[in-house]
Amino acid sequence: LSLHSGVHISPGEATMVTEQELQSLAEFESDTTPVLSLYLNVDSTQKPKEEYRLALRSMLRQLADRRPRADVQAVERFLDHEYDGSARGLVFFSCQAQGLWQVLPFAVPVPDRAVLARRPFISPIRDMLDRYGRHMVVLVEREGARLFLFELGQLQEVKGTLGDELKKHKQGGRSAPRLQRRADAVAQQNLLAVVKMTKDFCESTNCGRLILGGTTENVALFRSMLPQSLRDSIVGEITMDTWASEKDVRDRAAAIADAHTAEQDQTLIEQMLTAAMGGAGVTGLDETLIAFQQERIQTLVVADGYEASGVRCTYCDYLGLTPLDECPYCGSPARRSDNVVGTIVSRAIGKGITVKIVSGSAPLHEAGDIGAMLRY
Ligand SMILES: [Zn+2]
Repeated sequence: LSLHSGVHISPGEATMVTEQELQSLAEFESDTTPVLSLYLNVDSTQKPKEEYRLALRSMLRQLADRRPRADVQAVERFLDHEYDGSARGLVFFSCQAQGLWQVLPFAVPVPDRAVLARRPFISPIRDMLDRYGRHMVVLVEREGARLFLFELGQLQEVKGTLGDELKKHKQGGRSAPRLQRRADAVAQQNLLAVVKMTKDFCESTNCGRLILGGTTENVALFRSMLPQSLRDSIVGEITMDTWASEKDVRDRAAAIADAHTAEQDQTLIEQMLTAAMGGAGVTGLDETLIAFQQERIQTLVVADGYEASGVRCTYCDYLGLTPLDECPYCGSPARRSDNVVGTIVSRAIGKGITVKIVSGSAPLHEAGDIGAMLRY
């Protein structure tokens, strides 16, 4: 990326998923062998290596008899021999029978999920790109600023922003009022230069989200100098030392992105609950299953980790909760199913319905941990 200000940043080390890759995954469809989409939280700061292997085994167990042997072997081979342990989240798309194999490492944690469906389950990646997408962090002080690019959990300092041009204005004493006024004028000058740099940077990197840091006073002053469009793109402000370590800056930026993510989940849940009250949505597994079979679902919302058992027809697509011997639709034998939620998620993905796995909340839990917004 080259910037107007002449600053260069090298591409990050984590694999960035491209729009083209996502598009080809979105178009992939397999009528014969289902696609395994596997999201694995391998964040070593959250759990040791043995634990994610356990989580993997338990997710695969839930797929029971549908467990795709070749795909599971490919995943295990990767974890045993190729994975270097540097990611916080790993996403696999595998359909060995159709030649599909893709591993995407992320520097942000992903919630564990294994899905077998006719299509790859990519909406969590879209959400991640949206939520942990490009942020610019500006640590500002009177002498200038440090600029960082924060993307998908990775932080990169844009070198040279508190450059010689700005540093040479740095004044020693501030005792005499005249010197103080001079210093204020220089600070004003410096901050204007930072405003321009920020604007150029945001434009050249197509970055729509801004995090400001510094002392409360400097942040407020800098904010007041920003053009309205940039002021509108501020997603968080942090009080921190301009010379903080990169790790500290990354952690604080990540905390803002995490909070923003949780907020977006809560907004989606509220929208769904409001829709349900007005008849444009449903909540609870029973109603959701009915709406799904009537093909009325537009967006399916499921609490992370929610599972439930029920029954499925051995012949048609019937799914239900109440134990039955015969399918109420076609009269074929019905069979107990351990994971009706997994099945509805798979089928929804296969039909191209938007599926949102959200971090659980009390209101969603009360509503049955699952719900949907309807088409009509
Ligand atoms: Zn049936």
